[in-house]
Amino acid sequence: MKPLVALVGRPNVGKSTLFNRITRNRTAIVDSTPGVTRDRHISEAEWLGRQFRVMDTGGYCHDRDGISQAMLEQTMTAIADADVILFLVDVRSGLTYLDLDMAKLLKKEYGDKPVYLVVNKVESQQLQFEAESFRKTGFTEPWFISARDGSGVADLLDEVAESFPEPAEGEREDTSARLAVIGRPNVGKSSFVNALLGSSRHIVSNKPGTTRDAIDSRFKRNGRDIVLIDTAGLRKRTKIDAGIEFYSSLRTERAIDRCEVALVLIDAEQGLEKQDMKIIQMAAERKKGVLLLVNKWDLIEKDSKTSKEYSDRMYGDLGNLSWIPIQFISALTKKNLYRAIDTALEIREHRSAEISTSELNRFLQEALQQAPPSSKSGKEMKIKYMTQIDAPWPVFAFFCNDPKLLQNNYRRFLEKRLRQRYELTGVPVSMRFQQK
Ligand code: GDP
Ligand code: GDP
Repeated sequence: MKPLVALVGRPNVGKSTLFNRITRNRTAIVDSTPGVTRDRHISEAEWLGRQFRVMDTGGYCHDRDGISQAMLEQTMTAIADADVILFLVDVRSGLTYLDLDMAKLLKKEYGDKPVYLVVNKVESQQLQFEAESFRKTGFTEPWFISARDGSGVADLLDEVAESFPEPAEGEREDTSARLAVIGRPNVGKSSFVNALLGSSRHIVSNKPGTTRDAIDSRFKRNGRDIVLIDTAGLRKRTKIDAGIEFYSSLRTERAIDRCEVALVLIDAEQGLEKQDMKIIQMAAERKKGVLLLVNKWDLIEKDSKTSKEYSDRMYGDLGNLSWIPIQFISALTKKNLYRAIDTALEIREHRSAEISTSELNRFLQEALQQAPPSSKSGKEMKIKYMTQIDAPWPVFAFFCNDPKLLQNNYRRFLEKRLRQRYELTGVPVSMRFQQK
């Protein structure tokens, strides 16, 4: 089911106008749910590649005694059904008792669903100033829009689309390769993305001061569709936010969750820092493909040994993440950028590769012959067979007499052998040992 966005608010605040703008006047399906006094309108919409449904809860009459029964019913069903709630108010009529009642209701009933306070009809600076008064509703982060003119709507939808629950990886209709471009501020993420996309970058809104959590940009490479998920706009926004670290790591996390392969950029002059390690670990823990890109390589004075020495030093720090490939790029001079994309696509390919059970068991027998597991307190571990489990990344199950007998160095030995035999560069691997 596609996520559902509900527009709630008292009559005349502009819900239908916003509804029509978001759905671009597609025909609405009229939903006559029993028990709902008036029909509600639901229509399909799409933003930044995410499909969703919008519900307009309009249609009831004004009731002078506060929230009318119809309004209450519709709002309650909206709260129950929706994934995201847009609570609309009207700056031109100011904050009314009805708005406050609605706010109270939403506060009480919405649980943990995201509710956005949307102040509509904000068409001037003066009105934006007046719109501040709506913070009294208790929703303290108002979004200013004009449903009529469209201003602010793109930014609002960016945020809304980000808060949708993610579809499971296997359920995507879109078969594009999803690559996230992540890294600390200033490592060159924007430069990297811009260099790849040239002028074709899709800019939704260029109003100063507006940035978004993540921008998806699409391009083609050798006939393959690629989506770059990029968190570059972050910094400008986080400056005004309190928990900068927390906020930006949350955004990085979301970008990672949505990707198949994470391109982690670091700054060649600064080397691998603690925060870089954290980002790399985040991607590896989430079982995504990882490619480490040392950017600004143009700034390094080098001879024939420099890159080898540089990566050796980094592998020293990476420890058990040594399966991650390292490449040297320059977003400025555009050096090696397409090579990086091609490597990322290979990693994606290998991450989803399937190895047959018979092939895996030939592999296992060879490994066991070469080095059987050492016994632990006199008991011998026997691995009988192995198989690959269906998952977005390689998960191998080993069936054995007693998984508790497994020693860490033997697990490492098997992983090393697996990586030698199969193409698993940049790909995380999970190994499960089960009793059989
Ligand atoms: P609903 O009852 O909440 O669905 O509100 P409507 O969408 O029917 O809008 C109520 C009135 O407000 C209509 O006359 C709209 O033309 C007007 N309206 C809606 N959005 C805007 C806006 O952004 N700016 C201004 N100035 N008027 C708007
Ligand atoms: P972001 O915060 O990660 O998006 O980083 P930006 O793309 O905004 O880059 C930060 C700074 O590094 C800017 O001044 C860029 O011009 C510079 N920069 C980015 N890539 C390179 C590069 O490959 N070489 C050099 N010399 N500078 C770069």
